[in-house]
Amino acid sequence: GIILAIESSCDETSASVVSNGKVLSNIVSTQEVHQKYGGVVPELASRAHQKNILPVVSEALKDANIKKTDLNAVAFTKGPGLLGALLVGASFAKGMAMSLDIPLIGVNHMQAHILAHFIDDPKPQFPFLCLTVSGGHTQLVVVKSPLEMEVVGETIDDAVGEAFDKTAKIMGLDYPGGPLIDKFAQGGDPLKYPFPNVNIPDYNFSFSGIKTAFLNFLRKENQKNENFIEENKADLCASIQHTLIKILMKKLIKAAKELNIKEIGIAGGVSANSSLRNTILEEGKKKGWNVYVPDFEHCTDNAAMIAMAAHYQYEGKDFEALNTSPNPRMKFKGTNE
Ligand code: ATP
Ligand code: MG
Ligand code: FE
Repeated sequence: GIILAIESSCDETSASVVSNGKVLSNIVSTQEVHQKYGGVVPELASRAHQKNILPVVSEALKDANIKKTDLNAVAFTKGPGLLGALLVGASFAKGMAMSLDIPLIGVNHMQAHILAHFIDDPKPQFPFLCLTVSGGHTQLVVVKSPLEMEVVGETIDDAVGEAFDKTAKIMGLDYPGGPLIDKFAQGGDPLKYPFPNVNIPDYNFSFSGIKTAFLNFLRKENQKNENFIEENKADLCASIQHTLIKILMKKLIKAAKELNIKEIGIAGGVSANSSLRNTILEEGKKKGWNVYVPDFEHCTDNAAMIAMAAHYQYEGKDFEALNTSPNPRMKFKGTNE
């Protein structure tokens, strides 16, 4: 089938067309209004989605060389995400499904991040273990099939992307700070400033303590030297990045070993981090894992991943009623929550 997919869960307005599992287009418009606020402002996100959605969808169809009347289904991100932002995509998709008289597909954004692995080759074999690291989530997921996934561990407080963004903000960097930490960390000493790592049981994570430790450390150093951050930016970025990656790797290694899985993937915005990508590839060589790392454009929010998820749901006839509504706290499909 030919499916149009729309993503609008946060601050990217995106549309993609997939044909029988092959992505034909993927248009992403990143909202810039949030930069000066140091984080996503929900009301501004909704308004920007409203403004962007029609041109983004038109461009995705044009780029794919597909007419509206060629479509067999329309998909949208049902959740999790910001309610107002999700509503824009959901309403638009409903309108299209209704007027074209084709099925509507509701996609879980976090499962879609994982299914980004199925856009390009090589594709992981099942079961595979995915470390999903994004702005709002940090999860270890056992993926048994495209539609059967089990969360085996997750953060008990902040997401790792949030830890990147908040520590960046403390250093005075723009939002989102993750990519800037990645950039400034190049050439920095990752072992210069060791930050504590609290022990969390099982396959769960905690990141809120690091942020506080970092803030306290900088306050103290700043009293001695008010240019401390500026003078040590590379080492600070490298050290905080190293600490965050160490926490992620510890649990990934533990889960891979105990669950006896050697097919390993990373997904979500933070999987664009160059040091995380290198670390996991190197660890994979030592452990004999097959490591899968999505293309950069499929790590951060995009509709191609929503389209990929929709492709599998279309084959399983998992459709939504036209009176459906988005769910900001949506759990994985197939789990009864
Ligand atoms: P969720 O997917 O949990 O709903 P989200 O959609 O806002 O949250 P994504 O778009 O998947 O999150 O990822 C955005 C996050 O990825 C931000 O926290 C951003 O700082 C982080 N990020 C992007 N690139 C990098 C990078 N190179 N290094 C570190 N972090 C990065
Ligand atoms: Mg974003
Ligand atoms: Fe996301």
